[in-house]
Amino acid sequence: MTIQHRQTKQRAALLDLLRSTKSHPTAAWLYERLRAAYPAMSQGTVYRNLSVLAEQGLVLVLRSGSTYDRFDADTSVHYHIMCESCGRVDDLPLSAETFRNAEAERVSGYLVTGHRIDYFGICPECQKSKKGGFPGTGT
Ligand code: ZN
Ligand code: MN
Repeated sequence: MTIQHRQTKQRAALLDLLRSTKSHPTAAWLYERLRAAYPAMSQGTVYRNLSVLAEQGLVLVLRSGSTYDRFDADTSVHYHIMCESCGRVDDLPLSAETFRNAEAERVSGYLVTGHRIDYFGICPECQKSKKGGFPGTGT
């Protein structure tokens, strides 16, 4: 098998794995689950393959300033909500407000190609497990 063929196979397996989860995993999470089947693969390879898939428009990169990037095989326009307690990331079932693009264009003079809105809070599981309340939430 050529190196190129092997890389293509690894990338396909990576995309399959990402498509099988709704958890918006990190590169490390994906690497942990692929290393048994691809022992020669490094975490750097996983990261590079994710970059290639993102360039091809097959994967969304969810960049967060403070923690590691997360990845999403659902490339449709949708919003995310992140738990400030456990770090989990969920899709937010709100319609994406694409009208904002036109509004942003009008006030900025930019040609707007998209926008991001991220929500933050405490997930239902963390609300249940922590009785002491959360700072700033009034609970
Ligand atoms: Zn949580
Ligand atoms: Mn998502």
